Amino acid sequence: MFAAMRSERMEALHLFSDPATGLEAVVAIHNTKLGPALGGCRYLAYNTLDDALADAMRLARGMSYKAALAGLAQGGGKAVILRHPHVADRAALFEAFGRFIESLRGGYITAMDSGTSSADMDCIAQQTAHVTSTTHAGDPSPHTALGVLAGIRAAARARLATDSLSGVRVTLQGLGNVGYALAELLQAEGAELLVADLDHGKVRLAEQELGAQPLALEAVYETPCDLFAPCGLGGAINQRSIGQLRCAVVAGAANNQLVEAELGEQLMARDILYAPDYVINAGGLLHVALTHAGVSAGDIAGRVKGIGERLDSIFAQSRAEGLSPAEVADRQAEQILYG
Ligand code: NAD
Repeated sequence: MFAAMRSERMEALHLFSDPATGLEAVVAIHNTKLGPALGGCRYLAYNTLDDALADAMRLARGMSYKAALAGLAQGGGKAVILRHPHVADRAALFEAFGRFIESLRGGYITAMDSGTSSADMDCIAQQTAHVTSTTHAGDPSPHTALGVLAGIRAAARARLATDSLSGVRVTLQGLGNVGYALAELLQAEGAELLVADLDHGKVRLAEQELGAQPLALEAVYETPCDLFAPCGLGGAINQRSIGQLRCAVVAGAANNQLVEAELGEQLMARDILYAPDYVINAGGLLHVALTHAGVSAGDIAGRVKGIGERLDSIFAQSRAEGLSPAEVADRQAEQILYG
């Protein structure tokens, strides 16, 4: 485990267990050079503890890079609560997690993520002030979707030579909190939507409400479109799926879209423009961090829109230096974190 921590340049890894509530949780703190670590709390089933640790560490690293490129005085961290089939009292589980967060004395601030809700954050808030995206602070997902929309515009300018999304064919993989909000925004812009989700109910809703065309889960890669937006759980671009892609752009909300860093170069070699995940999906982080710091809603909206300009500059540097956008973003973030 220490070797894995070294290779991810991880500062700390905490394991928590509370037999009374059945809580088993991991908090990974990647880097606190710019400020306390902030990052969401996932509540998901994992096959093994090692899988949960690896997920938490990868995501924590992404949060450090995301905060650095979003211009925030914030470090990167992530929490994972292992989801077991039966939970006697969900509120008590999240309150127990809140007590553990409190024991870290502000070194890690938690937030909503896949599998958790504002109501869960409210339970954590009973025990600690180091929590955001409570009911009071609001769900970050719509802000993430707005940031992704700004990033999609930047990618369309760079690769499709258009400022308008009208008629642009977008495949959305995942219609969760962010994916569905993004689908609504894209539909309002006149984009043509193709959608897939493990949950057929969400797909049917998108068909009925947004006129989206449903796709089978595996068909998302090979169905021709202008832009593929991964909004599921990460790992969408791997050695198998990359060869199936029939799109000009990959730009979506999911964290850790590339299973291996080299896939960034492979996308470029295939002339597919990739919007680095932690840059395009920073809207939620901007919302939670700046709301926590008392910044006004108007100013936060301006910072979220700025994601488009950040991507404009990454795409321009990528063209000028012949490096993939993923490599350019990593270099910029590492310069801030370690330079
Ligand atoms: P969510 O759990 O609400 O939604 C995920 C959706 O993807 C679910 O509907 C699920 O059924 C679907 N899905 C999972 N695997 C799929 C697959 N293989 N094919 C099709 N559909 C699949 O999560 P969310 O909050 O919408 O977040 C989505 C992604 O964006 C995650 O990777 C998350 O880490 C990332 N993200 C979210 C935020 C935020 O503000 N919520 C911010 C930044 C990044």
